[in-house]
Amino acid sequence: MARIVMKFGGTSVGDLDRIRNVAARVKREVEAGNQVAVVVSAMAGTTNQLVKWCQDLSPLHDAREYDVVVATGEQVTIGLVAIALQAIGVEARSWQGWQVPIVTDNAHGKARVESIEGAELIRRMEEGQVPVVAGFQGIETARNRVTTLGRGGSDLSAVALAAALKADRCDIYTDVDGVYTTDPRIVPRAKKLERISYEEMLELASVGAKVLQTRSVELAMKEGVRVQVLSSFEDKPGSLVVDEDEIMEKPIVSGIAYSRDEAKVTLRRLPDRPGVAARVFGPLSASNVNVDMIVQNIGADGSTDMTFTVGRADLPRAQDILNKAKEELGFEAMVADPEVAKISVVGIGMRTHAGVASTMFKALAEKGINIQVISTSEIKVSVLVASEYTELAVRALHTAYGLDA
Ligand code: ADP
Ligand code: ASP
Ligand code: MG
Repeated sequence: MARIVMKFGGTSVGDLDRIRNVAARVKREVEAGNQVAVVVSAMAGTTNQLVKWCQDLSPLHDAREYDVVVATGEQVTIGLVAIALQAIGVEARSWQGWQVPIVTDNAHGKARVESIEGAELIRRMEEGQVPVVAGFQGIETARNRVTTLGRGGSDLSAVALAAALKADRCDIYTDVDGVYTTDPRIVPRAKKLERISYEEMLELASVGAKVLQTRSVELAMKEGVRVQVLSSFEDKPGSLVVDEDEIMEKPIVSGIAYSRDEAKVTLRRLPDRPGVAARVFGPLSASNVNVDMIVQNIGADGSTDMTFTVGRADLPRAQDILNKAKEELGFEAMVADPEVAKISVVGIGMRTHAGVASTMFKALAEKGINIQVISTSEIKVSVLVASEYTELAVRALHTAYGLDA
């Protein structure tokens, strides 16, 4: 007997037949004698629609109200999954974030989980009931408001719940049957990885491989939660996320990821003096706008150009903040370009091998793809390119690093 958290993403609960399929899978685990807690996302497309409604009403909408709106998607699916379970004779009860409670900080729209009260859920699981918990949402207790954990946040809900319930496994059921060398929807020749290290998965997630949300991997690594990614539609072994020393073969590049959720901002002719970077990025971070790649040119005649990327959803906020500070910062012009994509190659083998970046630059050059910004870390190289080249770049790199199946 094991205690398992089973998480089902948006496509897996996309219609009533799929919800019945989820219920049947849960029933199988329960009948095998396991204690099961379920975490679900909103039905496919729902969260996008809810986000769009907020944006259409006001691009600089109040983040607290945004959370009230976007958290509703998961309320629907927990109820439906509980009904579907009850209909096939499995005792089940739905739980919203505040009911558990899943307590978060107050960073609305991308809140961090602070604690989860697991005792009551454990008691019920021991009595044979299946808690069906809303992914993506929590509550911040200072103002008693609903929060959400950032896009893809149901993965984090599942891992955090698995840690709180001391579960033996956290199974992430999705619309692909595991973690691949790159998005199998873009590169049909991508290979399924039987195992991937927490570190590589974390890096891949953080640069756009949305099969697992970044913070969920971070937490799984910290808490030692055994995460498995598998298909909700097929009975096939999935991919396990494990410690590095559980992996025999260590290729130099394990995976390639892309992100279209980026926007590039350039501040032209910014005064080149100490403290200017702090004055640009301080207010952005104070408003929860994450800045990723940064390049500052060598200054000439006392001024410099500064280019950086922010999440595309944060672009209006970033522009607003910088425009308001234009006088104080003293730049001449701000140019924003949302039509960019970040392409990254990741692998722990990079720690000990040179030449990874030059292979990347050569492969992109051969396809005539211009690189706008470059950034590197210990196990990753990322480049920013025009978004129209996303697929071409990913495929070219997949071939260049010998990853094609
Ligand atoms: P869910 O709704 O179940 O959370 P997501 O859409 O968030 O599903 O994540 C699954 C998707 O992640 C897949 O459909 C696939 O297109 C994409 N993906 C991106 N990179 C990878 C990768 N390296 N391996 C597997 N899937 C990937
Ligand atoms: N429904 C949320 C989203 O679409 C959370 C999730 O699916 O993980 O971002
Ligand atoms: Mg997801």
